[in-house]
Amino acid sequence: MSVDLKWRDSALCAQTDPDAHFPEAGNSNRAAKRTCLACEVRAECLAYALRSGQRHGVWGGLDQKQLRQAARKQAA
Ligand code: SF4
Repeated sequence: MSVDLKWRDSALCAQTDPDAHFPEAGNSNRAAKRTCLACEVRAECLAYALRSGQRHGVWGGLDQKQLRQAARKQAA
C-alpha cells in the first residue's frame, strides 16, 4: 500500500524551523503550535501522525500528550 505524502510539500514547518517541532525536554512548543495553526496541510499532517503512530514532537498542532489522547479517542 502506498502512502500519499504529497502534503509534505506544503508543510509550513519545512519552511520555518523544523527543529522547533521537536523541542528538548522542558522547552516550549508554543512556536511550533503557532506554525501549525497557519499551516494549510494541518489536517493531512495530523491524520498521517495518528495513522503512523507518531508520538513525539508537534504534529498537526498537537503535542505528544494531545497526540496520545487523540489516538486513544480514535481507537475507542
Ligand atoms: S501541521 Fe504543523 S507539523 Fe504538520 S506540516 Fe504543518 S506546520 Fe508541520
